[in-house]
Amino acid sequence: MGFVHPLDAVLDSFGVARDKRGNVQATPDCEVSNGYQTSVPKVFAAGDMRSGQSLVIRAVADGRRCARAVDKFLMGNSLLPA
Ligand SMILES: Cc1cc2nc3c(=O)[nH]c(=O)nc-3n(C[C@H](O)[C@H](O)[C@H](O)COP(=O)(O)OP(=O)(O)OC[C@H]3O[C@@H](n4cnc5c(N)ncnc54)[C@H](O)[C@@H]3O)c2cc1C
Repeated sequence: MGFVHPLDAVLDSFGVARDKRGNVQATPDCEVSNGYQTSVPKVFAAGDMRSGQSLVIRAVADGRRCARAVDKFLMGNSLLPA
């Protein structure tokens, strides 16, 4: 539909916590240990699902930071750009 919060069925199936706007709760900081990780361990969220509807360039940047956070989570450090 666009410009509504993420679809409930997907979020319910993962059981992730949401904020007051219905978006997935995750810390948008790829430098902290739990960055981009949801309330469910090892489940990460980025883009519109995390921030709410925004712009393509913001979603791309968020996805790149999330990739760095996942890389750091798996490998302990990352060479991916912040
Ligand atoms: C009508 C409309 C117009 C817009 N116009 C602009 C604009 O002019 N400029 C601009 O910058 N931004 C615009 N936006 C916003 C922009 O499209 C979004 O901010 C951006 O696409 C978000 O990217 P994303 O990767 O976070 O999410 P999405 O692009 O929504 O990607 C999520 C993906 O997950 C897939 N998916 C969903 N459920 C599942 C599942 N169960 N299994 C597997 N895959 C699944 C979906 O098919 C989709 O491909 C517009 C948005 C809308 C709705």
